[in-house]
Amino acid sequence: MISFNNVSVSFDLPNGESRTVVENVSMDLDRSDMAYLIGPTGSGKSTLLRLLYMDRFPDEGVAQIGDYRSDLIDRSEIPYLRRSIGVVFQDFQLLPDRSAYDNVAFALYATGKKRSEVKSRTMKALTRVGLNHKRSNFPHELSGGEQQRVVIARAIANDPWVLLADEPTGNLDPVVADEIQELLVSLHRQGMTLMMATHDYRLVKKYPARTFALMNRQLIEIDPESL
Ligand code: ATP
Ligand code: MG
Repeated sequence: MISFNNVSVSFDLPNGESRTVVENVSMDLDRSDMAYLIGPTGSGKSTLLRLLYMDRFPDEGVAQIGDYRSDLIDRSEIPYLRRSIGVVFQDFQLLPDRSAYDNVAFALYATGKKRSEVKSRTMKALTRVGLNHKRSNFPHELSGGEQQRVVIARAIANDPWVLLADEPTGNLDPVVADEIQELLVSLHRQGMTLMMATHDYRLVKKYPARTFALMNRQLIEIDPESL
């Protein structure tokens, strides 16, 4: 379960004023939902995803992901929250000097797992994204779509119940974007809650799901067919 309840977020500007990005927005996702977050650049898509990752907190209202509520969470719980969810963010890059395998395994070692478990989880995650045969390749030996598969493998290696994705197809050409979107849809069909921010209305129409639009500080659910 994911929800925003009367959430407002403002940022302080250098001139001492503040700018409200979203104002009093609410939404609810069920465990079985897949949802798109769309809206123009600067409308607050990444900001809303960051609230769920608890990288920042709402100025007003409550963001909730699973059992974690932004108004009740203790700072010491944030690492556990982050381990329970998968994230594919624009700025979470692969380590360039590590193989695909090591990029996925590294994230699991960081959670304190044993070597044998890291190995089985890493192989399983790379297989799920269709990239186990390239596990020894370094990022520069992989195409953009393949690199994004490694990022997704890393995000799902710990078996999260939910995947948050921020423009996961943003830098890919349309054919590869479709392949990545099909992978995300298949993960959703296998039981993962999926929430992704995107600019790509073409993808939203081709792979319809619940769609929330951010515009003028408001968030409204729209019919993807109306795009
Ligand atoms: P894009 O489509 O370009 O990724 P977005 O919808 O994801 O845009 P956000 O990144 O959420 O938009 O940003 C929303 C607004 O909040 C922007 O005006 C941005 O400049 C501002 N903003 C975001 N983070 C900060 C910050 N840490 N400090 C100040 N302003 C910020
Ligand atoms: Mg963004």
